[in-house]
Amino acid sequence: MNRFAYTRAGTVAEAVQALAADPAARIIAGGTNLVDLMKYNVERPDRLIDITRLPLDGIEEHEGGLRLGALVPNSRAAYDERVSARYPLLASAILAGASPQLRNAATTGGNLLQRTRCYYFYDEGTPCNKRVPGSGCPAITGVNRIHAILGASERCIATHPSDLCVALAALEAVVQVEGPDGARAIPMAEFHRLPGDEPQRDTTLRHGEIITAVDLPAEDFSRHYTYLKLRDRLSYAFALVSVAAALEMDGDTIRTARLALGGVAHKPWRNAEAEARLQGRPATPETFREAADVILAEARPYAHNAFKIELARRAIVRGLSQAAAGTPQSQTDKRIQ
Ligand code: SF4
Repeated sequence: MNRFAYTRAGTVAEAVQALAADPAARIIAGGTNLVDLMKYNVERPDRLIDITRLPLDGIEEHEGGLRLGALVPNSRAAYDERVSARYPLLASAILAGASPQLRNAATTGGNLLQRTRCYYFYDEGTPCNKRVPGSGCPAITGVNRIHAILGASERCIATHPSDLCVALAALEAVVQVEGPDGARAIPMAEFHRLPGDEPQRDTTLRHGEIITAVDLPAEDFSRHYTYLKLRDRLSYAFALVSVAAALEMDGDTIRTARLALGGVAHKPWRNAEAEARLQGRPATPETFREAADVILAEARPYAHNAFKIELARRAIVRGLSQAAAGTPQSQTDKRIQ
């Protein structure tokens, strides 16, 4: 680990000013990803700006929905009565991730900024376009079992690791940020980016901007939802494929459908055509398979991850079936019946 200076920000403006002044500085809050990255020499900040004392840890009513401060710990968000009652999809996704200890330390804002778990990204002995732009992507011809099947580029085939963000994508949350040019709101769908020619950039945050809050819209999908996470072991593992399904039902007919996938792309993956095909249709396995076909028509496998296409197909059908029936996936008993 390299030497670094430490600054504690007293206000959001101070944090923004310190970050904007130093391109090699990093914000630290829970530190559950950043400290690992520093130990592996993937991140080598010359300054850490500690924002843990900022007043960004509240959960408040906001325009019919809820505003989660950037510093709300994942565990508090999941167990907050308003979140668990009105946004059980979000609570379920949070509880599907990491361990209780990590969820106690990890923050809402930090979860949005966590970086890929690609093995090569963490190994400074190998090239990696995300870690060292222009050095190459050994995952494309190497071991790529956990990598993307959708939206990858010839520069990077990494996946985004978060569970929380998949639920936020389905809920169409809005990320509030503050930077040198003031505050702005970024819809969740536009917050994370595909790798393209710049895989080193995970998000659309501009230099000097920090996340201050995440807004959950009034439409909560609290009756027909599920977060289904498929992984190599039942806990403390990243998703091979996950599905956040949120439906509004009119009897057996789907009135509104939202579907986001995790573990398959560089960002939570949504497909507007697939969601449109679900709307107004009966909630049957045939309808769900059709939506899965639309999403996966553009999937591209690599040597070791072709299994993800069939896994995703089955997960989409299962997730939508659970959501339609109002029988969400339990995060206590994770076995899929
Ligand atoms: Fe690096 Fe992305 Fe390739 Fe992984 S997939 S080695 S993160 S460039």
